[in-house]
Amino acid sequence: MTCEGPEIYRGPTVEDAEAEITIIRCEKCGYAHVFPLPQQAEERYSSGKYFSAQRVSGAACYDDEWVKLREYNTLVYDKRLRAIRRFALSSPLRLLDIGTGLVPRWLMHCSDRGETLEGWAGVELDPRARGYGEAAIFHDLDAVQGTFNAITLWYVLEHVADPAGLLRRAWEKLEVGGVLAVEVPNDFSYLQELAFKGRKPAPWVSSSHVNYFNEDALRLLVLEIAPFAAINDAVYTFPVEIAALLSYSLSGNYPHNVNEMRTLGEQLPQLAIRTECGCAPIGRSVCMFFGKE
Ligand SMILES: [Zn+2]
Repeated sequence: MTCEGPEIYRGPTVEDAEAEITIIRCEKCGYAHVFPLPQQAEERYSSGKYFSAQRVSGAACYDDEWVKLREYNTLVYDKRLRAIRRFALSSPLRLLDIGTGLVPRWLMHCSDRGETLEGWAGVELDPRARGYGEAAIFHDLDAVQGTFNAITLWYVLEHVADPAGLLRRAWEKLEVGGVLAVEVPNDFSYLQELAFKGRKPAPWVSSSHVNYFNEDALRLLVLEIAPFAAINDAVYTFPVEIAALLSYSLSGNYPHNVNEMRTLGEQLPQLAIRTECGCAPIGRSVCMFFGKE
């Protein structure tokens, strides 16, 4: 299968002003991706280069960036955990988190909220990643034994050269009645293009991202590889496009505290209600839940 489709971006990435990458809206794959696809997309994670890299926002590493956004991330994680608890039919929760990061923030959050993490597992290619509490960390998905009733893929599919292959392996690890939760950046939306018209680099073009999804492309990808059932409407996160159109000054792609979210919300009450509640395809990322029946 040869990838082909219209070119939607050619230019530098936010991390590298000298780089020139090409992104196509691939008609074969059904989503936009870098062209040609890098052969060793995962190498930067297994070699430990990714999590120590300087970030554009000035944070020293990926985890520092997470900490800067702690208030916002905590709010989102609380919503994600509540949704998974609602959708995963069997109890207790046995969760597999693919792409835990160097510091397994999601697992730590679940532990803070009273989950025992017993029988839980995480997967992170970086050899420095360590487990947390009862949850063991593996550096290879194939090394994970058994099945789970919840699998989370937070900001992973945009980084891998073969997202369909990863989803197929996740399907094999998911029990009937279980839930797969996927969140990816929502990229190249009409409003984003309008808000950041002609800007190079486009603020969502990252040198670590191979794929560029939106809700339709994500749904298509997941439902094509296995008989998953989509079990809710997509949930969108912070409407960064609206903030940009209104010239709100944000230091990154997300608000750095709840006050920053509220400031925007007070100006646009409907957005305050709809942000993180599922609405029009506006928002920096999109989260979807799929069931295995
Ligand atoms: Zn393709």
